[in-house]
Amino acid sequence: MIIVLKSTATKEDSLLFKNKLEQEYGVKVNEWTGVESTVLGLIGDTTKIDIDYISAQDIVESVKRVQEPYKKANRKFHPDNTVISFDGGQKIGDGSLCIMAGPCSVESEEQLNGIAEKVKKSGATFLRGGAFKPRTSPYAFQGLKAEGLDLLKEARRVTGLPIVTEIMRVSHIDMFENVDVIQVGARNMQNFELLKELGKIDKPILLKRGLAATIEEFLMSAEYIMAGGNDKVILCERGIRTYETATRNTLDISAVPVLRKLTHLPIIVDPSHASGKSWLVEPLAMAAVAAGVDGLMIEVHNDPPHALSDGAQSLTPEQFDLVARRVFAMKKAYDEAMTIE
Ligand code: PEP
Ligand code: MN
Repeated sequence: MIIVLKSTATKEDSLLFKNKLEQEYGVKVNEWTGVESTVLGLIGDTTKIDIDYISAQDIVESVKRVQEPYKKANRKFHPDNTVISFDGGQKIGDGSLCIMAGPCSVESEEQLNGIAEKVKKSGATFLRGGAFKPRTSPYAFQGLKAEGLDLLKEARRVTGLPIVTEIMRVSHIDMFENVDVIQVGARNMQNFELLKELGKIDKPILLKRGLAATIEEFLMSAEYIMAGGNDKVILCERGIRTYETATRNTLDISAVPVLRKLTHLPIIVDPSHASGKSWLVEPLAMAAVAAGVDGLMIEVHNDPPHALSDGAQSLTPEQFDLVARRVFAMKKAYDEAMTIE
């Protein structure tokens, strides 16, 4: 349930009313204060609340029931976009375009640092790299694990780029303490125990859309993290499984504006996993920017034919440089186009 307070309501009125709602109905009340209005978002069992009684209160402008099962992730509860800020000054969700780039798997210090320096020069603002890899085959390279995390931290020390890397199990959370953005991969989007634990920490979580997840299921997974108190969730559309076999997955480009409408969380697109082919990364990245994303995640490898995972979809640093320049030019054009009224 959403209660919009009158612009004349003072902070004290709002606090008193919020406490009253929590005590009388046993709900949790989320407060969002904008320039023009204050919105109270009620979470919990609101079925017993009489809308007419609430509407009749002096400080109440309007009351609405929220049909969607996701509450904290819902734009109705938080009309402004969520902006996630990092110590190095990076921001996601503020209208800028962030690029997370790096190899699918961390393979060696030389490989990672070489790629990190190059993608940084080309404008990437985060370094991605998998240390724990979810592979379809148990015989495929599973990642350098803890050593991979150390190499990522070293690459961050050298380049200053914050690091993004995937977690696969709850018992590893302590190990990820020094990671800047924890990625939950597509295969774990509905690992609810993992999501619940990640909800208890104060760190940005990059949540990838499951292989066949609906947008509502995707948002419910974000809700799991937020329900625990962690509001820093970044949503990543990375292609879904369809009947099409020409591409590894099908990039659901419409997910970007749909999510934008339904949620206040930042949205990024991963054209690498969406396509599975390096030559498709650029057009999909351009399309994502034109659809209004907050960022892109792109796989870059120094020697794609010999990559230990996802070589076919990885760009060389030189290819990435060109893609990044075109993508930033597209972003400039997008921002200009959006000023037209
Ligand atoms: C990855 O980012 O390397 C990865 C495994 O992604 P996804 O979970 O989207 O398949
Ligand atoms: Mn990959």
